[in-house]
Amino acid sequence: MRKLLFSFCILSYAVLGTSAKPAEEFVTSHLQNLSQSLDNWGVTNIDTSGSQISFITNGLDFTLRVGGRTIEASGTPLHLGYPIQLINGELYLNNVDTNLLLKPLIFPHQGSRAEASRKTIVLDAGHGGGDPGATNESLQLEEKKLTLTMVNKLKKRLLDAGYAVQLTREDDTFLTLTERTELANSFKPLLFLSIHFNAATNIEAAGIESFATTFMNQPSTGRTQLETTDTEFTRNMHYDKSNTLLAYSIQKQLILATSERDRGVKRARFGVIKNIESPAALLELGFLSHSESAKKFKDDHYLETLAKAIVSGIKIFLEQ
Ligand SMILES: [Zn+2]
Repeated sequence: MRKLLFSFCILSYAVLGTSAKPAEEFVTSHLQNLSQSLDNWGVTNIDTSGSQISFITNGLDFTLRVGGRTIEASGTPLHLGYPIQLINGELYLNNVDTNLLLKPLIFPHQGSRAEASRKTIVLDAGHGGGDPGATNESLQLEEKKLTLTMVNKLKKRLLDAGYAVQLTREDDTFLTLTERTELANSFKPLLFLSIHFNAATNIEAAGIESFATTFMNQPSTGRTQLETTDTEFTRNMHYDKSNTLLAYSIQKQLILATSERDRGVKRARFGVIKNIESPAALLELGFLSHSESAKKFKDDHYLETLAKAIVSGIKIFLEQ
């Protein structure tokens, strides 16, 4: 009998505070009428059918559904802080989701983008040393090794494309999340990517997801309650609009290249990205706990496919 043992990706959401505030209370006082926002932005050809709105703009096919907590942009779900509300027959979106998530997708050139004077892309191989991250013992896979393999593949492709590249670790050593952040910031990065692979107790869990720092005053993906730490400003929030665009661009290219399940762009206050002083994303490139996915991670050609897609996403982000 095959036996799989997993240890989990140790990145964790911000420490939960004690003074939870109901999400519903927050939503009702910070709503924007979606049709009015789209009208103000000059978006036309809006298809409204009771419970959902669809429109095509900036080359993307958007769908928003009542009660849903995602915006779909050409099929990729971007997770919202709060659900879409139907009030008196009209759709409403939380104001932060409207202005920091939806609007940058429609007007990417207005986003607080990467700083043009900067040249260095910083890549962070998750885990290392005594922290193996996720593992699949039957296939002898360790997340810490896969992430290092991936950043080296990315580095080569990015150097070939003319970018400068720095790594937070180049061998099997352990750095704390704060050490990774401070090292990355010392390079004055153009952008920052932390590379990871997933694991779950549900062995059916599969797919690729990309994380950006949660907006201030919003609960992270998977939570519905505001916690005390959600009201804190962290340095990466200077790049809120860019973070969305960076994570979306890469997620889109990864799904196009692999046809893996699209788990979308999620939000979390991960310690390794929340104080990065540039656009930043944390990529979860698949599940070591999923037997078919895990087999692919033994295939160097598949890892090259992932690397090529990530570089395409970076280029699209920087050139838009
Ligand atoms: Zn990890």
